[in-house]
Amino acid sequence: MNNPLSPNSTIGILGGGQLGRMLSIAASRLGLKTHIFEPGENAPAGQVANTVTTAKYDDYPALIKFAESVDIITYEFENIPTDALNVIEAICPVMPNRRSLGTSQDRLIEKDFLTSLGLQCAPYANVETAEDLATAVAKIGTPSILKTRRFGYDGKGQGWLKADTNPTSAWAELNETSCILEGFVDFTHEISVIGARSRSGEVVCFDPGENVHRDGILHTTTLPARLSKTQHMDAILATGKILNALDYIGVMGLELFVTPQDLIINEIAPRVHNSGHWTQNGCIIDQFEQHIRAVAGWPLGDGRRHSNVTMTNIIGSEVYDLDTLSKDTSVGLHFYGKADVKEGRKMGHMNKITGPA
Ligand code: AMP
Repeated sequence: MNNPLSPNSTIGILGGGQLGRMLSIAASRLGLKTHIFEPGENAPAGQVANTVTTAKYDDYPALIKFAESVDIITYEFENIPTDALNVIEAICPVMPNRRSLGTSQDRLIEKDFLTSLGLQCAPYANVETAEDLATAVAKIGTPSILKTRRFGYDGKGQGWLKADTNPTSAWAELNETSCILEGFVDFTHEISVIGARSRSGEVVCFDPGENVHRDGILHTTTLPARLSKTQHMDAILATGKILNALDYIGVMGLELFVTPQDLIINEIAPRVHNSGHWTQNGCIIDQFEQHIRAVAGWPLGDGRRHSNVTMTNIIGSEVYDLDTLSKDTSVGLHFYGKADVKEGRKMGHMNKITGPA
């Protein structure tokens, strides 16, 4: 664990989607091998990895064999079942660590952690029971958002409370699972910082990007983000503080809301992040290479940005428009090799260079 991985070592990756695919490509460029563990058939990452195990997360013999075949394990998504982690962690180091995963898997734990560091979040309250709900609504008011504590992503598992919404019905829509009620933040724009921390504690952050969502899915990330120098530095300092506090190893995405007065933290993703895809064409060392370097115990790259970039996600049938997409010579195209084109599915992304940084 303390020794850096030598060339030809193998990194195990839990999850075989596009993030696992791009991590595998980065590992391969650095002379490292990857082994993907993924329940679904035809995993996008499987097309570029050295080995793929297709098995469920409760297939313990398959998990044991996987963990025994690799030198370290990392992951592309945060909702890894705890039992699966117990099985593999007994055999092989998993990075980022359990605390980072546990913190980001539960919105209440995450918000308690962030506020304990003195960082600002939207006002929030825990909702386990009907009484909690009434207390939370009295405390937070409307507009506000009911969010499931666990397993939410891309705006799923959320219900808005307006002045005329019946909170009980909104909670029933979420099957009365454990939630937090979060105050509405009247932000001017959303940003994210992609930061990395190495095994030796070195921290490097990419410049903040400005994010626009459409239908709950990230649409564009634009660099540079509209931020004052102070806000820029505050966003990076917050990222470093979180990375250090978690004794984190690897790349993390931090999503924030910008208001005229404040920077308010929305959430942490303990992994490479869609809003960091711009780094593939805006930096010499991108977020995927940075993550592989960190977990491999190698020195990080400096992460400097050489260009202004806009990343746009390619969703569903937009992927068929190859003629238009390929004509722009300032655009780097990245497709994920997904077999089925579905509405709302992320099929690829493009990075348009808009000028020197
Ligand atoms: P999340 O799943 O928490 O990242 O939320 C998805 C999106 O919903 C965010 O990127 C925001 O655009 C919006 N959103 C989430 N929480 C809030 C909030 N407290 N106030 C305003 N908008 C929010």
